[in-house]
Amino acid sequence: MRGRAWDRPSSSSRREMEALRSMLLQCVEMLQMAPSLLLGSAELLMEGDLVVPRTRNALACGNNACLWKKSSNGKVEVPYTVSSSFSSYEKGAIETAMSVFNTQTCIKFVPRSSESDYVAIENRDGCFSSLGRTGGRQELSLKRDGCVYHGIIQHELNHALGFYHEQTRSDRDQYVTINWEYIDPTTYHNFQKQITNNLDTPYDYSSVMHYGRYAFTTQYGKETITPIPDSRVEIGQRMGLSRTDIQRINKLYGCCE
Ligand SMILES: [Zn+2]
Repeated sequence: MRGRAWDRPSSSSRREMEALRSMLLQCVEMLQMAPSLLLGSAELLMEGDLVVPRTRNALACGNNACLWKKSSNGKVEVPYTVSSSFSSYEKGAIETAMSVFNTQTCIKFVPRSSESDYVAIENRDGCFSSLGRTGGRQELSLKRDGCVYHGIIQHELNHALGFYHEQTRSDRDQYVTINWEYIDPTTYHNFQKQITNNLDTPYDYSSVMHYGRYAFTTQYGKETITPIPDSRVEIGQRMGLSRTDIQRINKLYGCCE
């Protein structure tokens, strides 16, 4: 059930990707000033990163039970803890990623005191998160080796707020073609359309929640997701929340009400 990094069907493809990843990781130090160039390694760690409860849909759940609760002051506090295994630099990166939510939306990530529902940020095997508020302690993993980057942190936090991957939107077939021939059936679920509440916002190729074009490919160099009608449109950026990502958070949580 829990999607993990390296959840790959073909051992030859896995070997290729592992070789690619290790090559990319050697460059990580050099590339820290250019996070978009890290997409190769980051995407591998993020594939299948959504821990989805099959029984509900976060963006369309009854009584908004899967959303975080708004206080009387209009803020939506999301308590969190950060594992002591992260360095102070990494903790700073996590706080910086959260600060964008805190300043541009009514979401306020706050260090947990004694709240029962909270996000526990841990260094597990990959980058992954549950979808929406699950109730109780919910883990959000940022593997130290590959996940602690601004856009990736925001991507996982956005899952915890209730957002699916952009390319699983209910209306995605008008905007992207899924190339099923390069996807192994065991990973089909990552490309299934969801009954999403699209919040009256346009499909956003630049969403931090959109997969890259080679996500889960079984053949190196073959696209699994192709934008239409213009196949050259960039997808899969992990620089950070897009304008529409921020707008959606504000709409979903009624920040302007
Ligand atoms: Zn994801």
